[in-house]
Amino acid sequence: MLSMKRIIVAIDGPAASGKSTTAKLLAKKLGYIYLDTGAMYRACAYAAKKQGLAIEDRAAIINLMSTINISVGYSDNGNLLYLDGVNISDAIRTPEMSSSASAISAIPEVRHKMVDLQRKLGCDGGIVLDGRDIGTVVFPYAEAKFFMIADVQERAKRRFMELKEKGIDTPIEQVLSELEARDLADSSRAMAPLKPASDAFLIDTSLLSIEEQVEKLNEIVMMRLSLENNGKSDMQIRLAKHSGFCFGVRRAIQLAMEAKNDGKAVYSLGELIHNPQIVKELEANGIKVINEEQNIRNATVIIRSHGITRQSYERLQANNNEIIDATCPYVKRTHELIRSMAAEGCPVLILGDKTHPEVSGMLSYGNERTLVIAPGEPIPTLTGNRLCLISQTTQKLKSLQDLACELLANLLELKIFNTICLATSHRQNAAVELARDSDLMIVIGGYNSSNTRALASLCEEICLTYHIESAEELESVDFSAYIRIGITAGASTPEDMIINVFNRIKEKSGGSGTVKCIEEIPLFKEESC
Ligand code: C5P
Repeated sequence: MLSMKRIIVAIDGPAASGKSTTAKLLAKKLGYIYLDTGAMYRACAYAAKKQGLAIEDRAAIINLMSTINISVGYSDNGNLLYLDGVNISDAIRTPEMSSSASAISAIPEVRHKMVDLQRKLGCDGGIVLDGRDIGTVVFPYAEAKFFMIADVQERAKRRFMELKEKGIDTPIEQVLSELEARDLADSSRAMAPLKPASDAFLIDTSLLSIEEQVEKLNEIVMMRLSLENNGKSDMQIRLAKHSGFCFGVRRAIQLAMEAKNDGKAVYSLGELIHNPQIVKELEANGIKVINEEQNIRNATVIIRSHGITRQSYERLQANNNEIIDATCPYVKRTHELIRSMAAEGCPVLILGDKTHPEVSGMLSYGNERTLVIAPGEPIPTLTGNRLCLISQTTQKLKSLQDLACELLANLLELKIFNTICLATSHRQNAAVELARDSDLMIVIGGYNSSNTRALASLCEEICLTYHIESAEELESVDFSAYIRIGITAGASTPEDMIINVFNRIKEKSGGSGTVKCIEEIPLFKEESC
Protein backbone atom coordinates (compact mmCIF):
# COMPACT_ATOMS: atom_id res chain seq x y z
CA MET A 1 0.00 0.00 0.00
CA LEU A 2 2.91 2.31 0.77
CA SER A 3 4.03 2.29 -2.83
CA MET A 4 0.70 3.75 -3.92
CA LYS A 5 1.11 7.11 -2.35
CA ARG A 6 3.97 8.79 -0.54
CA ILE A 7 2.60 11.40 1.81
CA ILE A 8 4.01 14.29 3.83
CA VAL A 9 4.25 13.76 7.59
CA ALA A 10 4.64 16.97 9.63
CA ILE A 11 5.85 16.79 13.24
CA ASP A 12 5.97 19.99 15.28
CA GLY A 13 6.49 20.72 18.94
CA PRO A 14 8.70 22.45 21.49
CA ALA A 15 12.38 21.67 22.02
CA ALA A 16 13.26 18.21 23.34
CA SER A 17 9.73 16.87 23.05
CA GLY A 18 11.04 13.81 21.22
CA LYS A 19 10.31 15.05 17.70
CA SER A 20 13.59 14.35 15.96
CA THR A 21 14.23 10.85 17.36
CA THR A 22 10.64 9.84 16.60
CA ALA A 23 10.67 11.47 13.17
CA LYS A 24 13.93 9.76 12.21
CA LEU A 25 12.68 6.30 13.25
CA LEU A 26 9.27 6.81 11.69
CA ALA A 27 10.88 7.86 8.39
CA LYS A 28 12.99 4.70 8.45
CA LYS A 29 9.92 2.53 9.10
CA LEU A 30 8.02 4.13 6.22
CA GLY A 31 10.98 4.18 3.84
CA TYR A 32 10.69 7.98 3.68
CA ILE A 33 13.36 10.64 3.92
CA TYR A 34 13.69 12.67 7.11
CA LEU A 35 14.21 16.44 7.23
CA ASP A 36 15.34 18.16 10.41
CA THR A 37 14.28 21.77 9.78
CA GLY A 38 15.67 22.97 13.14
CA ALA A 39 19.14 22.01 11.92
CA MET A 40 18.67 24.41 9.01
CA TYR A 41 18.05 27.36 11.37
CA ARG A 42 21.02 26.21 13.42
CA ALA A 43 23.12 26.34 10.24
CA CYS A 44 22.01 29.97 9.68
CA ALA A 45 23.01 30.84 13.24
CA TYR A 46 26.35 29.12 12.73
CA ALA A 47 26.97 31.10 9.53
CA ALA A 48 26.28 34.36 11.42
CA LYS A 49 28.68 33.39 14.19
CA LYS A 50 31.38 32.40 11.72
CA GLN A 51 31.21 35.84 10.14
CA GLY A 52 31.17 37.54 13.54
CA LEU A 53 27.67 38.98 13.03
CA ALA A 54 25.34 39.81 15.91
CA ILE A 55 21.86 38.31 15.39
CA GLU A 56 20.41 41.71 16.38
CA ASP A 57 22.11 43.26 13.33
CA ARG A 58 19.16 42.50 11.13
CA ALA A 59 20.49 44.23 8.01
CA ALA A 60 23.71 42.20 8.18
CA ILE A 61 21.78 38.94 8.70
CA ILE A 62 19.50 39.69 5.74
CA ASN A 63 22.58 40.32 3.62
CA LEU A 64 24.17 37.12 4.92
CA MET A 65 21.14 35.11 3.79
CA SER A 66 21.65 36.18 0.20
CA THR A 67 25.29 35.11 0.19
CA ILE A 68 25.35 31.69 1.91
CA ASN A 69 24.40 28.28 0.61
CA ILE A 70 22.87 25.80 3.04
CA SER A 71 22.34 22.25 1.82
CA VAL A 72 21.16 19.03 3.41
CA GLY A 73 22.43 15.48 2.99
CA TYR A 74 20.72 12.32 4.22
CA SER A 75 22.42 9.62 6.28
CA ASP A 76 21.32 6.70 8.48
CA ASN A 77 21.80 8.83 11.57
CA GLY A 78 19.83 11.82 10.36
CA ASN A 79 20.66 14.85 8.27
CA LEU A 80 24.06 16.19 7.35
CA LEU A 81 24.17 19.97 7.22
CA TYR A 82 26.52 21.81 4.86
CA LEU A 83 27.36 25.48 4.88
CA ASP A 84 28.92 26.47 1.55
CA GLY A 85 29.89 22.84 1.06
CA VAL A 86 31.48 22.37 4.51
CA ASN A 87 29.97 19.75 6.84
CA ILE A 88 28.86 21.57 10.02
CA SER A 89 26.56 18.82 11.39
CA ASP A 90 28.36 18.53 14.74
CA ALA A 91 29.24 22.20 15.22
CA ILE A 92 25.56 23.23 15.24
CA ARG A 93 24.64 21.00 18.19
CA THR A 94 25.71 23.24 21.07
CA PRO A 95 23.53 25.12 23.60
CA GLU A 96 24.84 28.39 22.11
CA MET A 97 23.62 27.37 18.65
CA SER A 98 20.23 26.35 20.11
CA SER A 99 19.50 29.82 21.43
CA SER A 100 21.07 31.62 18.44
CA ALA A 101 18.96 29.46 16.09
CA SER A 102 15.85 30.51 17.97
CA ALA A 103 16.79 34.20 17.70
CA ILE A 104 17.73 34.10 14.02
CA SER A 105 14.62 32.09 13.11
CA ALA A 106 12.42 35.02 14.15
CA ILE A 107 13.78 37.10 11.24
CA PRO A 108 11.27 36.87 8.34
CA GLU A 109 13.93 36.89 5.58
CA VAL A 110 15.66 33.92 7.23
CA ARG A 111 12.38 32.03 7.43
CA HIS A 112 11.50 32.82 3.80
CA LYS A 113 14.75 31.28 2.61
CA MET A 114 14.49 28.19 4.83
CA VAL A 115 10.78 27.58 4.18
CA ASP A 116 11.42 27.85 0.46
CA LEU A 117 14.18 25.23 0.69
CA GLN A 118 12.05 22.95 2.92
CA ARG A 119 9.17 23.09 0.43
CA LYS A 120 11.49 22.27 -2.45
CA LEU A 121 12.91 19.28 -0.59
CA GLY A 122 9.53 17.98 0.57
CA CYS A 123 6.91 18.78 -2.04
CA ASP A 124 7.09 15.40 -3.77
CA GLY A 125 6.01 13.60 -0.58
CA GLY A 126 7.58 10.51 0.98
CA ILE A 127 9.05 12.66 3.73
CA VAL A 128 8.85 13.16 7.50
CA LEU A 129 9.76 16.69 8.61
CA ASP A 130 10.12 17.98 12.14
CA GLY A 131 10.16 21.59 13.31
CA ARG A 132 7.94 24.32 14.70
CA ASP A 133 5.81 25.41 11.74
CA ILE A 134 5.69 22.42 9.41
CA GLY A 135 1.97 21.70 9.79
CA THR A 136 0.97 25.36 9.98
CA VAL A 137 3.17 27.09 7.40
CA VAL A 138 5.59 24.90 5.46
CA PHE A 139 3.13 22.15 4.51
CA PRO A 140 -0.33 23.13 5.74
CA TYR A 141 -1.67 20.41 3.42
CA ALA A 142 0.46 17.62 4.88
CA GLU A 143 -1.64 14.44 5.01
CA ALA A 144 -0.53 13.57 8.57
CA LYS A 145 0.28 16.21 11.20
CA PHE A 146 1.45 15.77 14.77
CA PHE A 147 2.20 18.17 17.60
CA MET A 148 4.40 16.57 20.25
CA ILE A 149 4.47 17.88 23.79
CA ALA A 150 6.03 16.73 27.06
CA ASP A 151 6.33 18.04 30.57
CA VAL A 152 9.11 20.67 30.67
CA GLN A 153 10.99 18.93 33.54
CA GLU A 154 11.00 15.72 31.52
CA ARG A 155 12.22 17.57 28.43
CA ALA A 156 15.02 19.22 30.42
CA LYS A 157 16.06 15.80 31.73
CA ARG A 158 16.21 14.40 28.18
CA ARG A 159 18.22 17.36 26.84
CA PHE A 160 20.58 17.21 29.86
CA MET A 161 21.33 13.51 29.13
CA GLU A 162 21.77 14.19 25.42
CA LEU A 163 24.32 16.95 26.11
CA LYS A 164 26.12 14.80 28.67
CA GLU A 165 26.52 12.03 26.11
CA LYS A 166 28.21 14.56 23.83
CA GLY A 167 30.56 15.57 26.65
CA ILE A 168 28.81 18.90 27.26
CA ASP A 169 28.26 19.37 31.00
CA THR A 170 25.54 21.91 31.69
CA PRO A 171 23.70 22.06 35.05
CA ILE A 172 20.15 20.76 34.64
CA GLU A 173 18.73 24.05 36.05
CA GLN A 174 20.44 25.91 33.23
CA VAL A 175 19.16 23.43 30.62
CA LEU A 176 15.65 23.91 32.01
CA SER A 177 15.75 27.71 31.95
CA GLU A 178 17.24 27.74 28.43
CA LEU A 179 14.47 25.43 27.21
CA GLU A 180 11.79 27.61 28.78
CA ALA A 181 13.29 30.77 27.28
CA ARG A 182 13.49 29.17 23.83
CA ASP A 183 9.91 27.85 23.96
CA LEU A 184 8.68 31.30 24.94
CA ALA A 185 10.63 32.99 22.13
CA ASP A 186 9.50 30.39 19.56
CA SER A 187 5.84 30.56 20.51
CA SER A 188 5.56 34.34 20.87
CA ARG A 189 7.38 35.50 17.74
CA ALA A 190 5.30 37.35 15.15
CA MET A 191 6.05 35.09 12.19
CA ALA A 192 5.22 31.38 12.12
CA PRO A 193 5.08 30.97 15.91
CA LEU A 194 5.24 27.51 17.46
CA LYS A 195 1.63 26.31 17.70
CA PRO A 196 -0.30 23.17 16.80
CA ALA A 197 -2.05 23.13 13.42
CA SER A 198 -5.82 22.95 13.90
CA ASP A 199 -5.84 19.46 12.36
CA ALA A 200 -2.74 18.08 14.12
CA PHE A 201 -2.80 15.06 16.44
CA LEU A 202 -1.55 16.09 19.87
CA ILE A 203 0.90 13.53 21.27
CA ASP A 204 2.03 13.85 24.90
CA THR A 205 5.32 11.97 25.14
CA SER A 206 5.97 12.61 28.87
CA LEU A 207 5.24 9.02 29.78
CA LEU A 208 5.99 7.26 26.50
CA SER A 209 9.12 5.39 25.48
CA ILE A 210 10.62 6.17 22.07
CA GLU A 211 9.25 2.87 20.68
CA GLU A 212 5.77 3.73 21.93
CA GLN A 213 5.96 7.21 20.37
CA VAL A 214 6.98 5.82 16.98
CA GLU A 215 4.24 3.17 17.13
CA LYS A 216 1.59 5.73 18.00
CA LEU A 217 2.51 7.96 15.07
CA ASN A 218 2.91 5.03 12.71
CA GLU A 219 -0.65 3.81 13.47
CA ILE A 220 -2.07 7.22 12.57
CA VAL A 221 0.04 7.49 9.42
CA MET A 222 -1.23 4.04 8.34
CA MET A 223 -4.79 5.18 8.90
CA ARG A 224 -4.14 8.31 6.82
CA LEU A 225 -2.53 6.29 4.05
CA SER A 226 -5.48 3.96 3.88
CA LEU A 227 -7.89 6.91 3.67
CA GLU A 228 -5.81 8.56 0.96
CA ASN A 229 -5.58 5.42 -1.11
CA ASN A 230 -9.20 4.34 -0.78
CA GLY A 231 -10.77 7.72 -1.48
CA LYS A 232 -12.34 8.69 -4.77
CA SER A 233 -9.01 8.64 -6.53
CA ASP A 234 -10.29 10.28 -9.69
CA MET A 235 -11.39 13.42 -7.85
CA GLN A 236 -8.89 16.22 -7.59
CA ILE A 237 -8.97 19.24 -5.31
CA ARG A 238 -6.29 21.71 -6.26
CA LEU A 239 -5.16 25.08 -5.02
CA ALA A 240 -4.12 27.81 -7.44
CA LYS A 241 -0.33 28.22 -7.58
CA HIS A 242 -0.62 31.77 -6.28
CA SER A 243 -3.32 32.49 -3.72
CA GLY A 244 -3.91 33.86 -0.26
CA PHE A 245 -1.99 36.47 1.70
CA CYS A 246 0.05 38.87 -0.40
CA PHE A 247 3.19 40.61 0.73
CA GLY A 248 1.40 43.89 1.61
CA VAL A 249 -1.16 42.18 3.82
CA ARG A 250 1.40 39.98 5.54
CA ARG A 251 3.52 43.05 6.22
CA ALA A 252 0.55 45.06 7.61
CA ILE A 253 -0.34 42.28 10.07
CA GLN A 254 3.28 41.84 11.05
CA LEU A 255 3.74 45.58 11.68
CA ALA A 256 0.55 45.68 13.75
CA MET A 257 1.59 42.70 15.82
CA GLU A 258 5.08 44.10 16.31
CA ALA A 259 3.65 47.39 17.50
CA LYS A 260 1.44 45.45 19.88
CA ASN A 261 4.38 43.39 21.08
CA ASP A 262 6.06 46.64 22.09
CA GLY A 263 3.25 47.08 24.61
CA LYS A 264 1.66 50.13 22.94
CA ALA A 265 -2.07 50.79 22.46
CA VAL A 266 -2.60 50.50 18.73
CA TYR A 267 -5.42 51.84 16.58
CA SER A 268 -6.01 50.80 13.02
CA LEU A 269 -7.59 53.48 10.90
CA GLY A 270 -10.26 51.42 9.16
CA GLU A 271 -10.10 47.62 9.10
CA LEU A 272 -6.47 46.58 8.70
CA ILE A 273 -7.37 44.14 5.93
CA HIS A 274 -10.62 43.13 4.25
CA ASN A 275 -11.15 39.97 6.18
CA PRO A 276 -13.70 39.92 9.03
CA GLN A 277 -12.14 36.94 10.85
CA ILE A 278 -8.65 38.47 10.91
CA VAL A 279 -10.01 41.84 12.00
CA LYS A 280 -11.75 40.10 14.91
CA GLU A 281 -8.53 38.29 15.83
CA LEU A 282 -6.54 41.53 15.76
CA GLU A 283 -9.18 43.22 17.91
CA ALA A 284 -8.88 40.41 20.43
CA ASN A 285 -5.16 41.24 20.49
CA GLY A 286 -5.94 44.84 21.41
CA ILE A 287 -5.68 46.43 17.96
CA LYS A 288 -8.72 48.66 17.88
CA VAL A 289 -10.40 49.69 14.64
CA ILE A 290 -11.38 53.37 14.39
CA ASN A 291 -13.16 54.86 11.43
CA GLU A 292 -12.27 58.51 11.92
CA GLU A 293 -8.99 60.04 12.90
CA GLN A 294 -10.23 63.48 13.98
CA ASN A 295 -10.31 62.78 17.70
CA ILE A 296 -7.19 60.62 17.93
CA ARG A 297 -4.29 62.35 19.64
CA ASN A 298 -0.94 61.19 21.07
CA ALA A 299 -1.63 57.60 20.07
CA THR A 300 -0.11 54.94 17.81
CA VAL A 301 -2.06 54.58 14.59
CA ILE A 302 -1.42 51.95 11.98
CA ILE A 303 -2.29 52.73 8.39
CA ARG A 304 -3.67 49.72 6.58
CA SER A 305 -2.29 48.23 3.39
CA HIS A 306 -4.70 50.02 1.05
CA GLY A 307 -3.66 53.40 2.47
CA ILE A 308 -5.58 56.50 3.58
CA THR A 309 -6.24 59.96 2.18
CA ARG A 310 -3.53 62.63 2.21
CA GLN A 311 -5.77 64.78 4.44
CA SER A 312 -6.18 62.02 7.04
CA TYR A 313 -2.44 61.44 7.06
CA GLU A 314 -1.72 65.13 7.66
CA ARG A 315 -4.32 65.30 10.44
CA LEU A 316 -2.78 62.31 12.21
CA GLN A 317 0.63 64.00 12.08
CA ALA A 318 -0.75 67.34 13.28
CA ASN A 319 -2.36 65.60 16.26
CA ASN A 320 0.96 64.24 17.45
CA ASN A 321 0.25 60.58 16.66
CA GLU A 322 2.92 58.01 16.01
CA ILE A 323 2.15 56.63 12.55
CA ILE A 324 2.97 53.07 11.54
CA ASP A 325 2.56 53.20 7.79
CA ALA A 326 1.66 49.76 6.45
CA THR A 327 0.42 51.15 3.14
CA CYS A 328 1.36 48.60 0.48
CA PRO A 329 4.30 49.86 -1.62
CA TYR A 330 2.22 49.32 -4.76
CA VAL A 331 -0.49 51.64 -3.42
CA LYS A 332 2.13 54.18 -2.37
CA ARG A 333 3.45 54.18 -5.92
CA THR A 334 -0.01 55.17 -7.22
CA HIS A 335 -0.09 58.09 -4.76
CA GLU A 336 3.27 59.34 -6.00
CA LEU A 337 2.32 58.97 -9.66
CA ILE A 338 -0.99 60.77 -9.23
CA ARG A 339 0.65 63.55 -7.23
CA SER A 340 3.34 64.13 -9.85
CA MET A 341 1.02 63.89 -12.87
CA ALA A 342 -1.44 66.31 -11.27
CA ALA A 343 1.45 68.69 -10.48
CA GLU A 344 2.45 68.55 -14.16
CA GLY A 345 -1.08 69.70 -15.01
CA CYS A 346 -2.11 66.40 -16.59
CA PRO A 347 -5.65 65.18 -15.95
CA VAL A 348 -5.68 61.75 -14.29
CA LEU A 349 -8.27 59.01 -14.73
CA ILE A 350 -8.26 56.30 -12.07
CA LEU A 351 -9.72 52.92 -12.99
CA GLY A 352 -11.23 51.58 -9.80
CA ASP A 353 -14.11 51.11 -7.43
CA LYS A 354 -15.25 54.58 -6.28
CA THR A 355 -16.41 53.31 -2.92
CA HIS A 356 -13.16 51.50 -2.10
CA PRO A 357 -10.89 53.18 0.49
CA GLU A 358 -7.81 52.52 -1.66
CA VAL A 359 -9.39 54.63 -4.41
CA SER A 360 -10.39 57.41 -1.96
CA GLY A 361 -6.74 57.52 -0.90
CA MET A 362 -5.54 57.68 -4.52
CA LEU A 363 -8.03 60.41 -5.39
CA SER A 364 -6.80 62.59 -2.53
CA TYR A 365 -3.35 62.90 -4.14
CA GLY A 366 -4.84 64.41 -7.29
CA ASN A 367 -6.76 67.63 -7.96
CA GLU A 368 -10.07 68.71 -9.46
CA ARG A 369 -8.98 67.16 -12.78
CA THR A 370 -8.56 63.72 -11.22
CA LEU A 371 -11.53 61.42 -11.84
CA VAL A 372 -12.50 57.81 -11.12
CA ILE A 373 -14.10 55.39 -13.53
CA ALA A 374 -15.35 51.89 -12.70
CA PRO A 375 -14.75 49.03 -15.18
CA GLY A 376 -17.34 49.09 -17.95
CA GLU A 377 -18.65 52.56 -17.04
CA PRO A 378 -19.08 55.16 -19.81
CA ILE A 379 -16.07 57.46 -20.20
CA PRO A 380 -16.66 60.85 -18.53
CA THR A 381 -16.33 64.08 -20.52
CA LEU A 382 -12.65 64.94 -20.70
CA THR A 383 -11.11 68.32 -21.39
CA GLY A 384 -7.92 68.60 -23.45
CA ASN A 385 -6.01 66.08 -25.49
CA ARG A 386 -3.78 64.60 -22.78
CA LEU A 387 -4.63 62.09 -20.10
CA CYS A 388 -2.89 59.87 -17.61
CA LEU A 389 -4.52 56.49 -16.82
CA ILE A 390 -3.78 54.74 -13.53
CA SER A 391 -5.40 51.68 -12.03
CA GLN A 392 -6.40 50.65 -8.53
CA THR A 393 -3.83 47.96 -7.70
CA THR A 394 -6.36 45.11 -7.64
CA GLN A 395 -8.20 45.66 -10.94
CA LYS A 396 -8.23 43.14 -13.78
CA LEU A 397 -5.60 43.78 -16.48
CA LYS A 398 -8.27 43.21 -19.13
CA SER A 399 -10.35 46.11 -17.74
CA LEU A 400 -7.31 48.40 -17.91
CA GLN A 401 -6.53 47.29 -21.47
CA ASP A 402 -10.17 47.79 -22.61
CA LEU A 403 -10.34 51.26 -21.09
CA ALA A 404 -6.98 52.28 -22.59
CA CYS A 405 -8.16 51.20 -26.08
CA GLU A 406 -11.38 53.14 -25.74
CA LEU A 407 -9.60 56.28 -24.53
CA LEU A 408 -6.98 56.18 -27.27
CA ALA A 409 -9.64 56.73 -29.91
CA ASN A 410 -10.24 60.27 -28.60
CA LEU A 411 -6.86 61.45 -27.34
CA LEU A 412 -3.60 62.70 -28.77
CA GLU A 413 -1.59 61.70 -25.75
CA LEU A 414 -2.35 58.92 -23.27
CA LYS A 415 0.08 57.99 -20.56
CA ILE A 416 -0.75 54.58 -19.04
CA PHE A 417 0.75 53.32 -15.81
CA ASN A 418 0.17 49.66 -15.15
CA THR A 419 -0.19 49.94 -11.38
CA ILE A 420 -1.87 46.56 -10.93
CA CYS A 421 0.30 44.87 -8.35
CA LEU A 422 2.35 41.79 -9.16
CA ALA A 423 0.62 39.72 -6.47
CA THR A 424 -2.76 40.55 -8.03
CA SER A 425 -1.68 39.61 -11.55
CA HIS A 426 -0.01 36.40 -10.32
CA ARG A 427 -3.20 35.44 -8.47
CA GLN A 428 -5.43 36.29 -11.42
CA ASN A 429 -3.32 34.35 -13.96
CA ALA A 430 -3.11 31.33 -11.65
CA ALA A 431 -6.89 31.44 -11.00
CA VAL A 432 -7.67 31.53 -14.74
CA GLU A 433 -5.23 28.71 -15.44
CA LEU A 434 -6.80 26.53 -12.74
CA ALA A 435 -10.39 27.45 -13.64
CA ARG A 436 -9.76 26.32 -17.24
CA ASP A 437 -8.95 22.89 -15.89
CA SER A 438 -11.73 22.69 -13.26
CA ASP A 439 -15.46 21.94 -13.12
CA LEU A 440 -15.96 24.08 -10.04
CA MET A 441 -13.98 26.94 -8.53
CA ILE A 442 -14.17 28.04 -4.90
CA VAL A 443 -12.91 31.59 -4.33
CA ILE A 444 -12.27 32.44 -0.68
CA GLY A 445 -12.15 36.00 0.68
CA GLY A 446 -14.16 38.92 2.09
CA TYR A 447 -17.17 40.03 0.04
CA ASN A 448 -15.81 43.58 0.32
CA SER A 449 -12.36 42.57 -0.90
CA SER A 450 -11.79 44.05 -4.34
CA ASN A 451 -9.09 41.59 -5.38
CA THR A 452 -11.18 38.58 -4.27
CA ARG A 453 -14.16 39.87 -6.25
CA ALA A 454 -11.91 40.26 -9.30
CA LEU A 455 -10.76 36.63 -8.89
CA ALA A 456 -14.37 35.43 -8.60
CA SER A 457 -15.45 37.35 -11.67
CA LEU A 458 -12.56 35.96 -13.75
CA CYS A 459 -13.40 32.38 -12.69
CA GLU A 460 -17.14 32.87 -13.29
CA GLU A 461 -16.38 33.55 -16.95
CA ILE A 462 -14.83 30.08 -17.20
CA CYS A 463 -16.71 27.64 -14.92
CA LEU A 464 -19.20 27.42 -12.07
CA THR A 465 -17.78 29.51 -9.22
CA TYR A 466 -18.69 30.08 -5.58
CA HIS A 467 -17.30 33.13 -3.77
CA ILE A 468 -17.30 32.30 -0.04
CA GLU A 469 -15.98 33.95 3.11
CA SER A 470 -15.63 30.77 5.17
CA ALA A 471 -15.88 26.96 5.01
CA GLU A 472 -19.33 26.97 6.71
CA GLU A 473 -20.87 28.33 3.52
CA LEU A 474 -20.10 25.05 1.75
CA GLU A 475 -22.57 23.04 3.88
CA SER A 476 -25.32 23.06 1.24
CA VAL A 477 -23.05 22.37 -1.74
CA ASP A 478 -23.27 18.88 -3.24
CA PHE A 479 -19.79 18.06 -4.53
CA SER A 480 -20.66 14.65 -5.95
CA ALA A 481 -21.06 15.97 -9.49
CA TYR A 482 -17.58 17.43 -9.72
CA ILE A 483 -14.33 15.73 -10.59
CA ARG A 484 -11.95 18.68 -10.66
CA ILE A 485 -12.40 21.29 -7.96
CA GLY A 486 -10.16 24.34 -7.87
CA ILE A 487 -9.56 26.67 -4.93
CA THR A 488 -8.18 30.16 -4.94
CA ALA A 489 -8.17 32.92 -2.35
CA GLY A 490 -7.83 36.67 -2.21
CA ALA A 491 -4.81 38.52 -0.86
CA SER A 492 -6.41 39.00 2.56
CA THR A 493 -7.30 35.34 3.12
CA PRO A 494 -5.11 33.58 5.70
CA GLU A 495 -3.71 30.08 5.12
CA ASP A 496 -5.75 28.61 8.02
CA MET A 497 -8.93 29.53 6.24
CA ILE A 498 -7.77 28.01 2.95
CA ILE A 499 -6.88 24.79 4.77
CA ASN A 500 -10.31 24.67 6.43
CA VAL A 501 -12.03 24.98 3.08
CA PHE A 502 -9.73 22.40 1.51
CA ASN A 503 -10.39 19.93 4.34
CA ARG A 504 -14.14 20.59 4.33
CA ILE A 505 -14.38 19.87 0.60
CA LYS A 506 -12.30 16.74 1.07
CA GLU A 507 -14.57 15.52 3.88
CA LYS A 508 -17.80 16.32 2.02
CA SER A 509 -16.71 14.90 -1.32
CA GLY A 510 -14.87 11.81 -0.08
CA GLY A 511 -12.22 12.84 -2.59
CA SER A 512 -8.53 12.30 -2.22
CA GLY A 513 -7.23 15.61 -3.43
CA THR A 514 -3.74 16.69 -2.67
CA VAL A 515 -2.15 20.05 -2.71
CA LYS A 516 1.54 19.49 -3.00
CA CYS A 517 2.97 22.87 -2.46
CA ILE A 518 1.47 26.24 -1.68
CA GLU A 519 2.87 29.42 -3.07
CA GLU A 520 6.32 30.37 -1.95
CA ILE A 521 6.09 33.18 0.55
CA PRO A 522 7.00 36.13 -1.63
CA LEU A 523 9.87 38.31 -0.54
CA PHE A 524 9.50 42.05 -0.70
CA LYS A 525 12.35 42.11 -3.21
CA GLU A 526 10.40 40.01 -5.67
CA GLU A 527 7.09 41.78 -5.36
CA SER A 528 8.17 45.36 -4.86
CA CYS A 529 7.66 47.92 -7.55
O1 C5P B 1 14.58 21.77 16.57
P1 C5P B 1 15.77 22.55 17.00
O2 C5P B 1 15.90 22.66 18.50
O3 C5P B 1 17.04 22.11 16.35
O4 C5P B 1 15.50 24.05 16.46
C1 C5P B 1 16.33 25.13 16.76
C2 C5P B 1 15.51 26.39 16.66
O5 C5P B 1 15.16 26.62 15.30
C3 C5P B 1 14.18 26.38 17.41
O6 C5P B 1 14.28 26.80 18.75
C4 C5P B 1 13.32 27.33 16.61
O7 C5P B 1 13.49 28.65 17.05
C5 C5P B 1 13.88 27.23 15.21
N1 C5P B 1 13.01 26.46 14.32
C6 C5P B 1 11.99 27.13 13.71
N2 C5P B 1 11.19 26.48 12.81
C7 C5P B 1 11.40 25.19 12.52
C8 C5P B 1 12.42 24.49 13.18
C9 C5P B 1 13.21 25.14 14.10
O8 C5P B 1 11.76 28.30 13.95
N3 C5P B 1 10.63 24.60 11.61
